[in-house]
Amino acid sequence: MKRIAVLTSGGDAPGMNAAIRAVVRTAIYSGMEVMGIRRGYRGLMKDEVEPMSLGSVADIIQRGGTILYTARSKDFQTPEGQARAAEVLRSHGIEGLIIIGGDGSFRGAQALTRLGIATIGIPGTIDNDIPGCDRTIGFDTAINTAIDAIDKIRDTATSHDRTYVVEVMGRNAGDIALHVGLAGGAESILIPELPVSMDDVMAKLERGAARGKEHSIIVVAEGAARGMEVGKYLSEHTQFEVRVTVLGHIQRGGAPSADDRILASKLGSYAVKLLQQGESGKMAATLNGVLTAVDFDTVFTTPREPDFSLYKLAEMISI
Ligand code: ATP
Repeated sequence: MKRIAVLTSGGDAPGMNAAIRAVVRTAIYSGMEVMGIRRGYRGLMKDEVEPMSLGSVADIIQRGGTILYTARSKDFQTPEGQARAAEVLRSHGIEGLIIIGGDGSFRGAQALTRLGIATIGIPGTIDNDIPGCDRTIGFDTAINTAIDAIDKIRDTATSHDRTYVVEVMGRNAGDIALHVGLAGGAESILIPELPVSMDDVMAKLERGAARGKEHSIIVVAEGAARGMEVGKYLSEHTQFEVRVTVLGHIQRGGAPSADDRILASKLGSYAVKLLQQGESGKMAATLNGVLTAVDFDTVFTTPREPDFSLYKLAEMISI
């Protein structure tokens, strides 16, 4: 394989730049040419393709976001859009494509694989919602950002004897909420994978108050309930002074953590090696700490659940 390309797609995640850097540097090291595609599949269909060099990825390992920009594209989901994308790749002599993004982006990659383009996906999304891998790039940074915010909120919660509802990201996956709930010492954690019981949340608050505890933190994944609604309900049904904070997109940004940079560097380099070995239609991942290539079909069909042991542990020690 002489020429490959890399793009980022879907939501941006800290560490994507470190992955781009590893792809570009490994490819050049291995004697290949690398092209960068701007704005994901949308940019690909519009021929936003440029050559990458060792220098074009200098000084980006520490930067959040993605220097290649990212996008979501409905047009690419049509057969015409996919045929156009494959045509653009062929016109540049690009034989292999590395896609850094979430499972939606991998479905797009699968479509290109069927059109004869070799593809390898790298899991990059803060949600950690991709089956078949230990972690997605961006998750570690996102939970550390959220923890930092929760620690600050705790200071004011304690000082004012308040109950704080903190909404974190996670439309379909409770991983962020579970990790920051446990690490942030939350009294209750609401995640989309489990039924929400406001009675349980209130019972916990009452138990705490009965032993003199006047402040609490409740972490809510956006897919489980809206923080504002939880806050309103608690204000109306309890005597506690409740405030709500929605962390929102700050969880997406910032310098990637060391773990994310290392994971991104490993996966970026591994993805290039997989293409060199003739692999295609696979996700480059670490599973139980070992570099592994997982078929996209396996990624799409494997059921996924968060680590419920974290939930049980948090329940027990936040009694
Ligand atoms: P995140 O987890 O951050 O949302 P994602 O990769 O899952 O990332 P999506 O918006 O689902 O984000 O997908 C990104 C892009 O991939 C879409 O805008 C679309 O162009 C393409 N895509 C998604 N699903 C498909 C599909 N079923 N077939 C072809 N292309 C798809």
